[in-house]
Amino acid sequence: PPPAGRPTPGNDDGLRPADDRRRNRASGREPEPAPTRRGRRQLKDLHSRHIPFEGHGTVGAVAIDRDGRVCAGTSTGGIADQMDGRVGDTPIIGAGTYARRNVAGISCTGQGEAFIRGVVAYDVIARMEYRRDSLRSAIVGTILSNLTDKGANGGIIGLSADGDLVIGRNSAMINAAYRDGDTIVTLD
Ligand code: ASP
Repeated sequence: PPPAGRPTPGNDDGLRPADDRRRNRASGREPEPAPTRRGRRQLKDLHSRHIPFEGHGTVGAVAIDRDGRVCAGTSTGGIADQMDGRVGDTPIIGAGTYARRNVAGISCTGQGEAFIRGVVAYDVIARMEYRRDSLRSAIVGTILSNLTDKGANGGIIGLSADGDLVIGRNSAMINAAYRDGDTIVTLD
């Protein structure tokens, strides 16, 4: 197998062009693409309504293999109109993404700053591990105390090592789907 942290041969092909592009843009060899007319309109609308967080484009996944190993992954474009160089919760293990063997896998979306402050993905695991909360009450508890009470919003998907699936949110919506045998079940 490739050394830890390196792409497997199968997904290397897809990652390389993205990596090259990122490097070229960072060094100024390739210009950033100009915003589309639709993008400019959306940005103007956001500014005029003073809504700092909208238009999230995060994709998260949680899975469990046949030996009971849980894992979680999250990918995001960040938040609309974010500050240059901002790093949200998504790549911060424990904030937006976390998995612990024999407990659960957690992936989050929403206002990253609140997820970082509350170490939200890990908070779900800690509630389960130390308080023996179910996945459901751990997710509800962390959403209430770290998001709702703090005036932030977002959503969390979780899969416990026992196979419980929970999708929680205090945001207006979240699109989710899970696989049941050969069937894909969509929610929301
Ligand atoms: N959590 C992401 C961030 O703050 C955004 C999102 O999930 O939409 O960068």
